[in-house]
Amino acid sequence: MSHEGRFGQYGGSYIPEILHNSQQQLIAAYRSAMADETFVAELEWQLQHFSGRPTPLTFCPNLSKTLGGAQIYLKREDLNHSGAHKMTNVIGQGLLTKRMGKKRIIAETGAGQHGVASALIAARLGLECTVYMGAHDIERQYPNVFWMKQLGATVVSVESGSRTLRDALDEAMRDWAQNYQDTHYLIGTACGCEPYPEMVAGFQSVIGNEVKKQAAEQFGALPDKIYACVGGGSNACGIFLPFLDTDTELVGVEAGGIGDAPGEHAKRFHVADSKPGIAQGFASLFLQDDQGQLMETQSISAGLDYVSVSPILADLEAQGKVRMTSARDDEVLQAFRTLASNEGIIPALESSHAVAGALREAAALDPSQKIVINISGRGDKDIFNIAKAVKDTQFNEFLAGYLERETQA
Ligand SMILES: *Cc1c(COP(=O)(O)O)cnc(C)c1O
Repeated sequence: MSHEGRFGQYGGSYIPEILHNSQQQLIAAYRSAMADETFVAELEWQLQHFSGRPTPLTFCPNLSKTLGGAQIYLKREDLNHSGAHKMTNVIGQGLLTKRMGKKRIIAETGAGQHGVASALIAARLGLECTVYMGAHDIERQYPNVFWMKQLGATVVSVESGSRTLRDALDEAMRDWAQNYQDTHYLIGTACGCEPYPEMVAGFQSVIGNEVKKQAAEQFGALPDKIYACVGGGSNACGIFLPFLDTDTELVGVEAGGIGDAPGEHAKRFHVADSKPGIAQGFASLFLQDDQGQLMETQSISAGLDYVSVSPILADLEAQGKVRMTSARDDEVLQAFRTLASNEGIIPALESSHAVAGALREAAALDPSQKIVINISGRGDKDIFNIAKAVKDTQFNEFLAGYLERETQA
């Protein structure tokens, strides 16, 4: 797909010299693994029996009827083991780690979802696991930290910089440079130096390949449009890439946050603050100030607030092959409620961005048209954020009461 990890003007490898050999080893291992029937069979076996693939393509009869426009289908990545598409990537890279004869994985995590997925696959494959997480994120996302520890992973609290995802990423890079001989750096999205964008997008492409087959079985055609939320870009790449040479329109939905001012959103497309740049090992669009300093981002969903985006998507957008739009927090919450109350499916707040983008356009389409929304994950993890956003005061009473009962006991 790419030449030396380049996608148009984006991608590439901007890493310390010390990582060169380790990177070359990874590139070679990935290429040879994907050409090896035994590896591919093992990957498929784990995807099926550990994660529960293929995930269903679910028709939404109530929502389609209420809106009176396009027929709406959901790709159910929420039904993967651990509740999101992230499982697919960690299975692929976990198996690669073993193939390279390494015994330890490290990972960076923001909201903690990728950290939990990494800890799960490490336990399953008998690997050591260290997860780097910003101290600020640890405070906000403690339940995920709890599960990582229960699974036997070491969680390292990163105290530098803004104490969030990008600082965790720098720290993981440092660990990799020191320990590359026995350690694989398991990146959670389609970003980073070669071969990560291509490799992560490649593992996730099982999503789009399944949709192709399921659409043929269920309605005998390709979908007219596919919607996916865009954080780092892995679930979007995964469902989009198999449709690149078709007439299906591919729509990415970014986090619109609370407004368009700097720091109020996490939009990397169609905003003045987002410019081509190089950081964290690759070239892409980065939200940055005039001095090139990376900016703060904001979103109701913890998984869509990265300052950059996959070089694959940056290039596809530039080529006009993917259309990018965004949804603000209030619209996202509304979309979440609409899907939950009409169809009995609780989407993650990240995925609710894709739902919002689709609902905005579905009513104006013809009932003969079919659209697919990628439900990248389930919303159970968002219970605290959603309870706060819908102002459910009983939830706070419950939390206060819980603490009171526990301290008395
Ligand atoms: C992590 C996450 C995302 C964002 O990551 P991408 O790499 O952009 O897919 C989206 N949805 C869910 C449920 C996630 O956990």
